[in-house]
Amino acid sequence: MFEYFQPTLQAPSLDLISVEQLTQDGIKGLIIDLDNTMTPWNDLEVGPKVATWFIKVKAAGIGACVVSNNSKRQRVAVVADRLDIPFVFGATKPRRRAFRSAMNILGTGHQDTAVIGDQLFTDILGGNRLGLYTILVTPINDREFIGTKVMRKMEKVLVWLMKHCAPAKSISTKIH
Ligand SMILES: [Mg+2]
Repeated sequence: MFEYFQPTLQAPSLDLISVEQLTQDGIKGLIIDLDNTMTPWNDLEVGPKVATWFIKVKAAGIGACVVSNNSKRQRVAVVADRLDIPFVFGATKPRRRAFRSAMNILGTGHQDTAVIGDQLFTDILGGNRLGLYTILVTPINDREFIGTKVMRKMEKVLVWLMKHCAPAKSISTKIH
């Protein structure tokens, strides 16, 4: 059961994910969560480090698509349009449908698509259910949707269980 919650990689933030490593690992498309991964929760501002990281991604020939559970189209569209990338909103992650839609948009498959997000129960679980490369980032801040706050408590329990019941994995290194 734990393998569904085990990301391929962990990173302290989106901009600290090595684009070189993604290229080396054959990644051609990124499915990226919005709230607390790209921007603070419900914030429209993309920080300069994140904007620069997206330029590097594009220069490496890697496609990107925002996939957000946020149900407000305009909120997702503003950020995606600013970075000139496509988006899927109201995604209902961890359901697989939106991940498949994003892979269609990106023109990538199971072998060359990575999912990046800050939540084990939506981003990582959803990506792993499809057998995709998954990257867990630390949430930008702790302001978030009330339902997410509840899930964070469950995540903490899960992380504790994974630490004590599963083989140790080191942070910031490739897990599998
Ligand atoms: Mg998020």
